Amino acid sequence: MTSFSDLPIRDDLRGLSPYGAPQAPVPVALNVNENTHPIPDDVVADILRSVGVALKGANRYPDREFTELRRSLARYLGHGLDESNVWAANGSNEVLQQILQAFGGPGRTALGFAPTYSMYPLLASGTGTAWIAADRGPDFVIDPAEAAAVVRERRPDVVILCAPNNPTGTPLGLDVVRAVYDAAPGMVVVDEAYAEFMPGDAGTALSLLPGRERLIVSRTMSKAFAFAGVRLGYLAADPAVSDALRLVRLPYHLSALTQAAAIAALRHSDEMLATVHDIVVQRDRIAARLAELGYTVHESGSNFVLFGGLDDPHATFRALKERGILVRDVGIEHHLRVSAGTQDETTAFLDAMAELASSRSSHAA
Ligand code: PMP
Repeated sequence: MTSFSDLPIRDDLRGLSPYGAPQAPVPVALNVNENTHPIPDDVVADILRSVGVALKGANRYPDREFTELRRSLARYLGHGLDESNVWAANGSNEVLQQILQAFGGPGRTALGFAPTYSMYPLLASGTGTAWIAADRGPDFVIDPAEAAAVVRERRPDVVILCAPNNPTGTPLGLDVVRAVYDAAPGMVVVDEAYAEFMPGDAGTALSLLPGRERLIVSRTMSKAFAFAGVRLGYLAADPAVSDALRLVRLPYHLSALTQAAAIAALRHSDEMLATVHDIVVQRDRIAARLAELGYTVHESGSNFVLFGGLDDPHATFRALKERGILVRDVGIEHHLRVSAGTQDETTAFLDAMAELASSRSSHAA
């Protein structure tokens, strides 16, 4: 059988592996940082009504400028933003891809601080952008002065800061964004996919946008907003950024159904986000209980927890999977990552971890 590497594929793609988070049908899926709470029925009904109206006009192409959606997203973000500051695509992955298409590309570089979101290097390779993985300090924290120094030295065309960082959960201070922006010759993207889970006083890079025309803040409806299946990511930036992205996006890239569904969901932001507090409570419960069980727990400003101290993370992954619980092996030695689920899902995970910890200590005894 032919492998893709045997085809006349681009040399820089030969031998690469695609994004591959398992999609196994298990009762407790805590592996891709979704909001595991279902969308409330009354919101589903309202979204369906809007999608129905959009469907009647689906013989025509959708609004290529998705102006009403951009207006709704700007209203949701606040910070004095309007539709000219907002752009959207099918998930923030596509937003990031368009940014790299416009500002990265062959002969250019993008820099991030590893370990970080696994799609960044893949989006870089897909757009022919060379990826530079800079280091983090102790406990995955980025030091502003060190980050600025590496950016001054490497002069990347795009810097991607993940705030809070996936897969570690590490919050990012706005001092890092300021220092990196001042040092960077190119675009600086702050990926705030998990922003709604940050503590209220943490501060968002949206507040840094005025006067910083090379700064982009990326967001998504996939996480706190419980809308991962609809595929809607967006950004806030200077209006010139949208003008740049219009050069690389496909015409009509956001379907009429996506636009209608997202606009309707945004009408119900409060209800859509009502579970965020519960998820944060479950995240903190995971952190506290895993620490009690003797694992190393990393600080998280997100809806997931990275924990270490596992002798054999693959064995723990398999043992959890046998119990119908899916977590994520993120390739960090002796670590696994788990998303905070509903109270029952979280209990199932923690009970399984307690059982595994006690069988481990009884073996040791
Ligand atoms: N950024 C980060 C940090 C993420 O963790 C994810 C999803 N796991 C994304 C972006 C992409 O999400 P989406 O395409 O669903 O908006």
